[in-house]
Amino acid sequence: MSVYIPKQINEFFAAATQSFSYNPRRNIYIWFGILWGLPIPLVNILIHVHFLEASGVETPYLTAFCSPLQWFFLAHPPLFGLIFGILGTIRNDKDMQIGRMIEKLEELSTLDPLTGLKNRRYFAHIFHDECARSLRRNESMTLLFLDLDHFKQVNDTHGHHFGDLALQATSTCFKNQCRPYDTVVRWGGEEFVILLRATDESAAHFFAERIRNTVREGLSPPLPFPLTISIGLAQYQDNDTLECMVDRADKALYHAKQTGRNKVVSWSALAPEE
Ligand code: GH3
Ligand code: MG
Ligand code: MG
Repeated sequence: MSVYIPKQINEFFAAATQSFSYNPRRNIYIWFGILWGLPIPLVNILIHVHFLEASGVETPYLTAFCSPLQWFFLAHPPLFGLIFGILGTIRNDKDMQIGRMIEKLEELSTLDPLTGLKNRRYFAHIFHDECARSLRRNESMTLLFLDLDHFKQVNDTHGHHFGDLALQATSTCFKNQCRPYDTVVRWGGEEFVILLRATDESAAHFFAERIRNTVREGLSPPLPFPLTISIGLAQYQDNDTLECMVDRADKALYHAKQTGRNKVVSWSALAPEE
């Protein structure tokens, strides 16, 4: 017959086996327990002494301390220290568990499950830091907006499974082409954003052309259909917001789409009215 033991009791005994429960240097709860238990012997000794004095005992303090009842009360501060120490271990373990859980959730909330790339939420989060960094170091920074061409047709012709494979292969290609400190995110659907640190527009154009050619020549693992990509890019300008920068790169991308796709277009190359 199995006996139901409440989870809290199991936790208590598990914590009692950990050395942290008895380490007053690291576990502050032990000191809370001692302080909590301290008034018990103090108050009892004072009361005891008061009665001993009233009944004419000559050495009331010595008599009080020699009483086994007082030893019982004196044992309370260390006993409370012990119990609080164990409870402190439980609290400490729970804090660590929650901390790990929060880290995991934060990671999941910024990750795109299909491609393993960071998502748009992450990008919004780091963008200000990247701008501050670029200004501090007086470096240029360029944003690429990438969109797979006629991707709806890929899905319609080959099915969503192959569409997903194409998105994964494209993401792998971006990650392989980028430097570790560049940021690659899946913006949504078949759209991606790459932020290139310490890169001006002409260098970014060169880089974007390399990506475009890699996609056109074939990805790894190979796909049973041709795929092309259009890319718009915009260099960071003073006091740019995320929206402004993406908007300029998006305008350049729109131009690439309008003028035949499978192209890289820089925002600065657009006519002013565009
Ligand atoms: P364009 O060249 O103008 O960009 O045309 P397009 O067909 O690529 O653009 P459109 O916006 O018309 O279609 C995007 C398609 O991307 C539609 C949608 O089904 C597909 N898509 C978006 N997200 C996913 C995904 O996670 N998996 C798959 N398989 N397809 C996706
Ligand atoms: Mg699109
Ligand atoms: Mg598209």
